This record gives sequence, structure tokens and C-alpha cells, in this order.
Amino acid sequence: MNLANYINGELKAPTSGKYLDLFDPSKGEVYGGVPDSGEEEVESAYQAANAAFEDWANLSVDKRSQILVKIADLIDERHEELAQAESLDNGKPLSLARKVDIPRASSNIRFFAQAITQFSSESHEMADAINYTLRSPIGVIGTISPWNLPLYLFTWKIAPALAAGNTVIAKPSEVTPMTAFLFSKICIEAGLPKGVLNILHGDGLKVGASMVKHPGVKAISFTGSTRVGREIASVAAPMFKKISLEMGGKNPNVIFADCDYDLMLDTTVRSSFANQGQICLCGSRILVEKPLYEKFKKDFVERTKKLKIGAPTAADTNIGAIVSKPHFEKILSYIKLAKEEGGTILTGGNTVQPEGHENGWYIEPTIIEGLPHDCRTNLEEIFGPVVTIMPFETEAEALQFANVTDYGLSCTIWTENLSRTQRIAKKIQAGIVWVNTWLHRDLRTPFGGVKSSGVGREGGFEALRFFTEPKNICIKYK
Ligand code: NAD
Repeated sequence: MNLANYINGELKAPTSGKYLDLFDPSKGEVYGGVPDSGEEEVESAYQAANAAFEDWANLSVDKRSQILVKIADLIDERHEELAQAESLDNGKPLSLARKVDIPRASSNIRFFAQAITQFSSESHEMADAINYTLRSPIGVIGTISPWNLPLYLFTWKIAPALAAGNTVIAKPSEVTPMTAFLFSKICIEAGLPKGVLNILHGDGLKVGASMVKHPGVKAISFTGSTRVGREIASVAAPMFKKISLEMGGKNPNVIFADCDYDLMLDTTVRSSFANQGQICLCGSRILVEKPLYEKFKKDFVERTKKLKIGAPTAADTNIGAIVSKPHFEKILSYIKLAKEEGGTILTGGNTVQPEGHENGWYIEPTIIEGLPHDCRTNLEEIFGPVVTIMPFETEAEALQFANVTDYGLSCTIWTENLSRTQRIAKKIQAGIVWVNTWLHRDLRTPFGGVKSSGVGREGGFEALRFFTEPKNICIKYK
């Protein structure tokens, strides 16, 4: 089955007539074709988005909101079809796609459909004048998203951009484009005016790079690797485009001996291996206070060994397939590197061939100990079911270890000590800190990273501020 681009309200084949292979990671087999789009499609999408901009920007907030709500309703109606498509495309357990990915895609749209009706801007009064800030949509926006949470992150960008009155060219990952393709059909059915959203499929270096360098695309919202984020910034910055970059992470879990142990253990298994460890917020470096270290190690290994690796569609599967062959090989290369760097594999480290899925890309959840904090395994993002565990003695040491990497996306702290929580949370170099919980999301909060993990914030009014341009208007009193 070949997917199609969505340009000016219509589904269109790529002008090149060429398609990239689309893989089912659970079997390692090709199951479809992804349009191999490029500059031509970007130009057509831009023309459509630009032509649609005035009318969409001038539509009342209520009307824009209603159309978005209709799209969210259709996602809910198609929940099962979308969950199955997401699981097939990505290799994630179907149960996870049902419970997390698809409901969150619908919530993203519904949330921003409502948020825009509550969005406001400031006014600043002087003795002799009033200033008010007008926030207007920017124009044509480019959004570029990754493969790990395909529809979830795709809609997380599109929803605020559209709600704020922009028109959009959106590029899902070529590795997992299926739900974005199904989403284009939903937009057509929901009556989204033509050209308001255009979805282009294909290679990042071709279609993604063409979007970034197109002079008419005024802002880029990107989620993906730090390497690609850096490339995008180097093209967009001299063109003075607005950019929002959500990039990689190497998140620490800091576990103190006084924590709620059972809750911590349950959550740490999840924060290590959910979605095969392919969530930017997964905790991949687990720092444990020395008195608890041996007990934690034993229990964590035992619990991890019980995780069921298998076909994404099987009801009892906890760990599905890795998304692609190159990524599978990258993760394995890091397991090899960890051994070379002196690490001991406590459990995992091997590939798995579930029955009937022998050619799929499966890796056991892997726990490694004995590595220094500044080795490559502990500094570079692996983005798979691989974690390292390390003891620490003091709070100061925990902070030093936690902050050692170039990344700064999120951190989870486990302790019952409130004063310590406040001290550490303030000093951790991360955009998001969870205390005694993980991936606990409120869509109103600012989301993003510091250092090499990000520039700017998504979520709530932060996103609506990003997708609008403020203009100060000063009116003198008479
Ligand atoms: P990636 O950077 O390889 O690709 C992301 C997107 O960028 C894809 O759509 C790709 O086609 C496109 N792209 C590639 N090269 C491009 C270029 N030169 N110009 C424009 N677009 C280009 O990332 P990935 O492998 O798809 O995703 C995994 C990465 O995403 C990990 O590093 C992970 O941490 C990160 N991530 C971050 C967050 C966050 O919120 N911070 C969330 C999810 C994933």
C-alpha cells in the first residue's frame, strides 16, 4: 500500500513517482511505500498554505476551535484503527498505542481547541498612554516530528499552530508515517479548509531540509535528535526564522534510600523500558543512594527479567519491536560499547526472535552497571531499552552525576524529604523535573529541555505564544 501526501486539501502521489520502503518492525518486512517527496511538493504545499492563510487567520476563534474539536472527535471514533496502524508502523505494543498514543493525539487537538478560546495578551498602562500587545498568527509554519510517538507528537505541534491561526506544512517521520496519512483523511472529513494543513512525507534530508530553507516558511517547530536540530538551527538562524527545538535526552533518575520503594520500583521499570525505552523522557541513567543500591539492583533486575518481549499485537507483550533496522543496530552497538568500556550486563543485552516474528527487531531490556559517569555509554543518547545503574553517596554527588551530560530534558527524583526535593529540583539542569512520579503530564505546563535538549518550550500558552507574533501598540491619551 502506497501512502499519499496531503496538499491543498487533496491526497496526492509524489511527483517523482517514487516511494521509500515502509517497514513493519515486528517482522522486519516491507508493508508499504512512503512518498519520496522533495522541493516540488514543498513548493506546492507552501503555495496552498500561503493562499489559505488570510481566511484561516481571520476565521473567528470559535469557528477554528469547532473544526479542531471535530478532528479530535474523529480521532476518537477511529481509535482502534489508528492504534493498530501506530503499533504496526512503530513496533510498539498495541496496548500502549491504545492507552497512550491515540488518546493523547485526540487530547492534544481538543486541548488547544479550548486553549485558544482562553488565550489573551497583556496591556501596560502609562500615565499618558495605553500599550496593548496584539498577538497575530505568524503565517506558514513548518512542523517536523520523529518516529517514537508518531501521531502524539505530530498533533502536539499542529494543534497549537492551527489553533493560533497559522497554516501548516507538517512532516511526520518517514519511518512511521501511517497515522499522519490517516490523519489527512480525518482532516478532509472534518471539513478543514483546503491548504490550512498540508502533510508531506519523505526523507528528512530532502523534504524536511526543503521546508527549513524555504523562505516563505516563517517558523519551524522540530522534535527529533540533537544532531538534526543543530542542522536545522544552522539553516534557520541566518534566515531569522523562529525555531522551537525539542531534542534528545539522557535523563537521570535520582533515587534516595528514603523513597516510597514499591512505587519507585514499579515506576522505574516503566520509565526505563516503556515503548522499548524509545521515549525522550525515559530515565536512562539510574543513580541510587548507596544504602539502597544492592537491594534495588536485585529487585530491578528481577522485575526486568519478567517483562514479556513479543509481537506488538499480543495482549501480554510489555516490550515490542525496535522501530527500524538502523536503530536496532545502533542500540546493539551501544551495548557492545558498554562492554568495551568496562560495563557489566546484569540482564538483557541480546536480541530476541519471538515465534512467528523471527525477522523482527527485538532487543531484551538491558541493565548495565560498573560504568563511570563520563564514559560514552553514559553521556550519549541510546534511545532504546538500555539503562545504566550507578551508586552515589551524597546529595552533592548525585547532583554532579545527574548534571554531567550535555543534555537537560527531564529528571525524576525519588525521596520523601521535601527540603531535599526543593534543593535538588532547583539545581538540576533540566526543563522538566518529576518528583515521585514519571511522565505525569498536564498539557498546560511548559515542556522542553535545556542545554543540548532544547530551545524554547511547548505546551499550554507557551506554545500559543510561540505560534504568534507579538506587536506592541501604544495609544497616547488625549
Ligand atoms: P531525527 O532527528 O532523525 O528525525 C526527526 C525528524 O527530522 C524526522 O521527521 C526526519 O525525517 C527529519 N529530518 C531529518 N533530517 C532533517 C534535516 N536535515 N532537515 C529537516 N528535517 C530533517 O530523530 P528521530 O530518530 O526521528 O527521533 C528520535 C530522536 O527524537 C531522539 O533523539 C529523541 O530524544 C528525540 N525526541 C525528542 C523529544 C522531545 O520532546 N525533546 C520527543 C521525542 C523524541
